[in-house]
Parts: sequence; C-alpha cells; structure tokens
Amino acid sequence: METIALIAHDKKKDEMLDFAGNHKELLEKFHLVATRTTGTQLKEKLGLEVETMMSGPLGGDQQIGALVATEKVQYVIFLRDPLTSQPHEPDINALLRLCDVHNIPLATNRKSGHILLAYAAQKLNS
Ligand code: PGA
Repeated sequence: METIALIAHDKKKDEMLDFAGNHKELLEKFHLVATRTTGTQLKEKLGLEVETMMSGPLGGDQQIGALVATEKVQYVIFLRDPLTSQPHEPDINALLRLCDVHNIPLATNRKSGHILLAYAAQKLNS
C-alpha cells in the first residue's frame, strides 16, 4: 500500500479537513501519515485511519522527512500557510528539499492537492 503524508499549518487545518473529507473514499485506499494535530483532527472529525507523528514544531516534519528519505512516503500534501511565520521553518524547508531530492510529489495548496490525488487515483487503477 502506498503512503500519503498530510500536513496542515494551523490556519489551514479547516481547509485540510474539508479537502480530506471531499477525498475520503480515495484516501482510505492509502496508508496515511500526518503530523500530530493534523492527523488527530483527521481521525476524530473524519474517522480516517492515520498514523500520527509528532507535532510539526516538535519534529513531525522531520519525521515525515525521514520517511521521504527512506522512500516510505510516495506523496505529500502539505497545506502551508505562507502568510504566518512558522517557528519550524527550517524543518519545513528540509522536508521540501528531501521531496525534491527523492522526486516525491508534494502539493502545497488545495488545487495542487487535487491534481496530486487525481494522479494517485489513476495510478492505483492502472
Ligand atoms: P501539526 O503540525 O499538524 O502538529 O500542527 C503541522 C506543522 O506545523 O508542520
């Protein structure tokens, strides 16, 4: 089973819930990992099965980075908030960098997230 990592900054969490709710049926066909707060909300509010890492500011982005580096994650959807400064910006940049090193697709907004999932769905059915 392929793995999708889901991360949302605080101001994007409602958007992530809405996004994941719209794609729930498809997301259930993947192993999902997420940073702690994002993942907990996806579990509690949508009933999705999600493996949670630490919260982003405590190292969760780096944990997901390690999964990307070891090629255990195939897709990343990271709804970033570019308008608010994040204390763990270096970790976020490190995760983006690792995705590029390993050619792992990463969507940073809802629309590119839709495109990413459309591709993942197509691959699943081929
Ligand atoms: P969180 O972490 O899901 O624990 O809030 C996300 C982040 O800030 O990178």
